[in-house]
Amino acid sequence: MNYRSPISPGLSWYEASLTDRPTYPSADGDIRADIAIIGGGYTGLAAALRLAEQGVDVVLIDAHRFGDGASGRNGGQIGTGQRAWPTELEDDLGLDRSRALFRIAEDAKTELLALPAKHGFDVGYRPGQISAVHKKRWIAGYRNHATAMAERYDYPHIAYLDRPETAAAIGSKRYHAAIRDAGTGHIHPLKLVVGLAGAARKAGAKLYENTPALGIDPAGGRVKITTERGIIHADRCLVATNAHGDAFEAEPVSPRHIMPIRSFIGATAPLPANDDILPGGEAVDDSRFMVRYFRKTPDNRLMFGGREAYSAKTPNDIAGHIRAQIAEIFPALSEADIDYVWGGSVGITLPRLPFVRTIMPGVTSIGGFSGHGVMMATHTGRLWADSVTGRRDDLNLLRDLDIPPFPGGTALRKPLLFLAMTWYAMLDRL
Ligand SMILES: Cc1cc2nc3c(=O)[nH]c(=O)nc-3n(C[C@H](O)[C@H](O)[C@H](O)COP(=O)(O)OP(=O)(O)OC[C@H]3O[C@@H](n4cnc5c(N)ncnc54)[C@H](O)[C@@H]3O)c2cc1C
Repeated sequence: MNYRSPISPGLSWYEASLTDRPTYPSADGDIRADIAIIGGGYTGLAAALRLAEQGVDVVLIDAHRFGDGASGRNGGQIGTGQRAWPTELEDDLGLDRSRALFRIAEDAKTELLALPAKHGFDVGYRPGQISAVHKKRWIAGYRNHATAMAERYDYPHIAYLDRPETAAAIGSKRYHAAIRDAGTGHIHPLKLVVGLAGAARKAGAKLYENTPALGIDPAGGRVKITTERGIIHADRCLVATNAHGDAFEAEPVSPRHIMPIRSFIGATAPLPANDDILPGGEAVDDSRFMVRYFRKTPDNRLMFGGREAYSAKTPNDIAGHIRAQIAEIFPALSEADIDYVWGGSVGITLPRLPFVRTIMPGVTSIGGFSGHGVMMATHTGRLWADSVTGRRDDLNLLRDLDIPPFPGGTALRKPLLFLAMTWYAMLDRL
């Protein structure tokens, strides 16, 4: 496929490996619906599907193609819990709220994994997740985490691996220890986008690509969304633009709370069939603040993410950076051919928890899953839909989280974030 996302650089292995990515028309003229959704990533598409399934008249627009943002091009790792460990959340929120957030995340996992069978699509799910320790002094914390998850969160699926076990599981001697989570896994992220969109269309949602929202006006009791060729009138609106919220300035609130960090991934040429990398087929993330994450593709490439950037510019020579990072962990691949490099914008919040907020009458904004949106964006979209129809009220647990704006105002918040990230990247290396 030759199509390139205008908002995320590079051609991804996901795009190249997909045989069918259906297109959707752009909106033409005025449209009336009960609910309007802006943004066709996991959050928006999952909300549209859930609403349409419950008989709600819903319209969804995306400025580009569905999945052109983070949802079509991420690391595909589902994870367990929220972005921060439950044991860390206990310190800030207390045991009860931490347990409630963990329960939501487990629901997210279960419901995500049920979607393909229910709607007849495939996401290429493969089980297993390893979190590897790159600094000796964090070994005890990882081991304690495995114990706490079993004892306090009734989650017995995490096993501690010592150094030799870690080396055998990953195929690298670089890490001091690891934990293996047998209760989660990884997917082909673009297949999830395509599946959600197809199911939403089948359920009756009106879906439009290449239709930017240029403004949102809640005056007069109905929400009016301006597009290039008409106005969408709806009772309520979901803004699900995530890290891309400032591109069209449709509303100014979300970009103050959700900041884009650019993250880049490379896929090597297929490796020999007898290589010893990840024999168990797990996905890996590591203990760096600037996390490295990798896994094998079904055609035996190493797909490796780790290059990050804190400006809108695409760095030069992404492949060179990725190859150097691969070589630190897998020295035998220091000369590996990198066939695909691509990137996307991760929407982060200050506490690394999702942003869910009513930003004007009838308008909710959801985003900022901070690198943990494969299951949580999909689920939060579903929870918003269920809050609209009165089916369940779990969204309140996320709505109640304190997600402050980034400091520095419009002019300074990106330079300040750059400084903070550079600092943490330095600590990772020390
Ligand atoms: C490189 C990378 C690796 C990642 N790895 C992982 C991982 O392994 N595991 C994990 O859980 N998470 C990961 N993430 C994060 C995850 O992908 C996101 O949290 C999730 O996809 C967010 O989904 P979303 O629907 O909220 O936003 P997005 O998918 O970013 O969608 C937002 C959409 O809004 C549209 N839009 C913006 N402005 C407008 C407008 N004015 N009008 C209409 N449409 C508009 C955009 O075109 C875009 O399609 C990663 C992200 C990246 C970039």
